[in-house]
Amino acid sequence: TRRKLVAGNWKMNGSLAALGELDAIAAAADAAPGVDVAVAVPATLIGPAAARVPGLAIGAEDVHERDAGAHTGCISAAMVAEVGASFTIVGHSERRADQGETSQDAWAKAAAAHRQGLSVILCCGETEAERNAGRAERVVQAQIEKSVPDNADGSWFTLAYEPRWAIGTGRTPTLEEIGSIHAIARAKLRMLIGDAADGVRILYGGSVTGENAATILAVDDVDGALVGGASLTAAKFVPIIEAAA
Ligand code: 13P
Repeated sequence: TRRKLVAGNWKMNGSLAALGELDAIAAAADAAPGVDVAVAVPATLIGPAAARVPGLAIGAEDVHERDAGAHTGCISAAMVAEVGASFTIVGHSERRADQGETSQDAWAKAAAAHRQGLSVILCCGETEAERNAGRAERVVQAQIEKSVPDNADGSWFTLAYEPRWAIGTGRTPTLEEIGSIHAIARAKLRMLIGDAADGVRILYGGSVTGENAATILAVDDVDGALVGGASLTAAKFVPIIEAAA
């Protein structure tokens, strides 16, 4: 049985002042010992966040695929680990859209993160056009096939299904659509990594709120949530943690 994971993604939001939100989030995590809670923050905030709430898993939103080198402006997995990150997101759809990242890049970044002892949340998900064309399943299967490392297992690896059209829009797939993609994702994982697929958590992300979290988290093969906007304040994020408990 997989423990639920509720992960926040602050994206390019937050500040030193905003880290105060983490106090109540950490308290809610302590009050829900059956749920894993994690928050990915901008690189500049990882060190201060990890120092402020040592009991809460703090992560990066991206890492470079190389351990070091001449890559101006980039940040390696070793660097974020050194200042207190215990995990990183890779392959987020915003990085695929804004920075042109591919599933191959996500694979390399996941491997780099694992080399440095970080856990990984690897994102996949179709666009609205792909869903409308009836291609959501095939797109997600192809992304998984190209991005999931051979040695992935639940001890360090989590998959997140985030349909792009549901991110920041207030729109979500139906529970049936979520369940269908998660089941397909699990089956694809099983083809790639065998029985280890049973231990890998598959999160749903895209407009998760305190209102819809309980029903989404009750869907088969949904092992948690990856939360953007509603992770920015304790007032919005804590109810999602409570819904997972
Ligand atoms: P929202 O929760 O703001 O829709 O964002 C989801 C997301 O992209 C998390 O990575």
